[in-house]
Amino acid sequence: MQFSSSPSPLLFQRIRLLNTPIDALSLREAVARLQELIAQSRGGLVCTPDTTALWRAQKDPSLRAIYEEADLITPDGTGVVWASRLLGMALPERVSGIDLLERFFAGAHTGRVFLLGAAPGVAERAALKLWERYPNLQIVGTHHGYFRPDENEQIISLIHQAQPDLVLVGLGVPRQELWMRENREKLNRSVLMGVGGCFDVWAGRLMRAPLSWQRLGLEWLYRLVQEPKRLARALTIPLFVLEVWALKLTHLWWR
Ligand code: UDP
Repeated sequence: MQFSSSPSPLLFQRIRLLNTPIDALSLREAVARLQELIAQSRGGLVCTPDTTALWRAQKDPSLRAIYEEADLITPDGTGVVWASRLLGMALPERVSGIDLLERFFAGAHTGRVFLLGAAPGVAERAALKLWERYPNLQIVGTHHGYFRPDENEQIISLIHQAQPDLVLVGLGVPRQELWMRENREKLNRSVLMGVGGCFDVWAGRLMRAPLSWQRLGLEWLYRLVQEPKRLARALTIPLFVLEVWALKLTHLWWR
């Protein structure tokens, strides 16, 4: 366990779970941290791994390297919070990317936001829906996430021209994290945040699980029903649970 080493007045713990850092912040504190990063205008990296992303990071050093660099990294999954509690490093609560952003958008100072990702037309639709809900929100640009590598520089200059404080990157794990790492120097005044399928939810293309499902830790199942192609990824959840239990039993054994 370590404390944040950033020059942040908000002191918080950073635990390590399956060798990946996670910040022990409540949703309210995570919103404050995001606001702080934006106010500093020095850029930053925000990641919100769920159980499947944590599992993947164990096997993929390039993904884990990005999590190590994150200025804010929150548990986007009930399974991550459960594992922290079982291993005696209790995270206060689940802080999903979508909850973090919606709480942030509802605040008074949201800054200038750019949406990058999802299928053509989805980020635009998401922007319109967000404007209806948060009239103060300044969305300064959008671009879809199905671009060729040789189109990247064009996208970077589009983002530069828009001068966003916050760039939401919805390209899926691990593409969004790799993109953020590769481009963070070029966009060094903006905070970059990986948001997975948030644009699809805001655009109304995907439904979020009802609260009762979320409380039971079954949001992944609700998503799987809507997108059966996620089955291979969902199959890593039992592997994650087994590994966490194995760690717990090893701790008990050596005590
Ligand atoms: N996506 C994209 N470009 C790609 C691959 C995926 O923009 O090359 C988008 C996809 O349309 C979807 C999001 O990335 O909007 C992936 O969402 P998902 O919830 O699967 O992300 P994860 O669970 O990996 O964070």
